[in-house]
Amino acid sequence: MSSTIVLGAGIVGISTALALQARGLDVLVIDRKAPGQETSFGNAGVIQNEARAPYAFPRAPLTLLTYALGRSNDVIFDLPALPGMANALAQYFWQSAPRRHADISRHYAELVAQATSDHAALITASGAEHLLCKSGLGEIFTNQKAFEARALEAEQFGKTHELAMTTVDGTQIAAEEGLTKAPAGAVLWRDTWHVRDPGALVTAYAKHFIRNGGRVEQADITALSPAGSAWKVNTTSISYDAKHVVVALGPWSPNLLAPLGYRIPMVMKRGYHAHYNHETELSRPYLFAQEGLVLSSMNAGLRVTTGAHLTDFDRPQKLHQLKAGLKAISGYISLTDRVPEQQWHGTRPCLPGMLPLVGPAPKHQGLWFNFGHGHQGLTLGPTTGKRLAALFELAAD
Ligand SMILES: Cc1cc2nc3c(=O)[nH]c(=O)nc-3n(C[C@H](O)[C@H](O)[C@H](O)COP(=O)(O)OP(=O)(O)OC[C@H]3O[C@@H](n4cnc5c(N)ncnc54)[C@H](O)[C@@H]3O)c2cc1C
Repeated sequence: MSSTIVLGAGIVGISTALALQARGLDVLVIDRKAPGQETSFGNAGVIQNEARAPYAFPRAPLTLLTYALGRSNDVIFDLPALPGMANALAQYFWQSAPRRHADISRHYAELVAQATSDHAALITASGAEHLLCKSGLGEIFTNQKAFEARALEAEQFGKTHELAMTTVDGTQIAAEEGLTKAPAGAVLWRDTWHVRDPGALVTAYAKHFIRNGGRVEQADITALSPAGSAWKVNTTSISYDAKHVVVALGPWSPNLLAPLGYRIPMVMKRGYHAHYNHETELSRPYLFAQEGLVLSSMNAGLRVTTGAHLTDFDRPQKLHQLKAGLKAISGYISLTDRVPEQQWHGTRPCLPGMLPLVGPAPKHQGLWFNFGHGHQGLTLGPTTGKRLAALFELAAD
């Protein structure tokens, strides 16, 4: 029997396992796939040092109308999926009121401020430096008014959080990145990092965990139940026992916890990616802010990721955001390949309170949560892993 089992081998589960192992615990990780093959595989690869506030539910009536009418490329939804998410969406809206969002952002900023140094330690220990680029993140604006408004807002935000940021003229960014037309301008966040293959980063962290004596088992988890003073994890093959279990199943966490009496509302924000051939690599990832796409140069090609598609796990893909976004940026960057009929998609696990759940389960001894990292799970995995391990140690004292 291991002392601790971590359920889920995404960036959050593997980072948690490493942090617990660093505190001397014997840890087993269980996942139905190899490490880093789900949400942690297909993201935009940005370690977002600049993300000092979580994404709020928009509250301006005009923005809401734009979303409701399907006129924004940032968010689309499947109407039949919304009733199942209604409670989560209502809470998300409520928590996004300016004062509540400001309170939440203070905690969020504290976590994100540690993200690059927490990753740096793991990147060095796991020999993953070849995946890392420290060249920042850009936000490109194609509309002059929108650029000017964002530049003012970003300067203020940068000052508040002491972030290195600059604005760059559209002609300069076009020359630097080989764009075919100059946009209005760009906001650059200098201390944001980027990995060229997020799945490979998780694999590297997992190998480091295994080298240090950790175990990773591939099995489909079917149930979790208390067994005396310990826990039993049932899988389709065998069952495992441990004194402590950490649930780090990303968007699947609420499903496993429901039979234990935890009703955890989650906003499921699906995103897509596709890879393209592009002659010159971009020096850093770029958000095309008005077109709702992020472009990042990866080992697999130029990865284009989309905004949010509010839907259930099982509904068919909708490639509208990818296609419309690519059409909108086609004057600025030449990507000749077409969007194939099937693409990678994954679900950002977004909790209405916008902070990940990190800590002991409220109703059970020995059960721990570390999930709900939303838009910034790649960024926050190592930091919340360390937080959870510190709470573990406190509980053991
Ligand atoms: C399009 C897109 C772009 C993004 N871009 C960024 C970005 O640039 N920067 C950033 O910081 N974040 C980004 N994110 C968010 C980030 O990817 C997620 O927050 C993060 O990957 C969540 O990690 P996780 O470990 O919690 O979940 P996951 O990586 O999904 O891990 C959960 C694991 O649980 C396993 N699992 C689930 N159910 C079972 C079961 N029954 N039995 C066994 N195993 C099971 C799965 O196989 C999976 O490996 C993006 C997300 C998307 C969708």
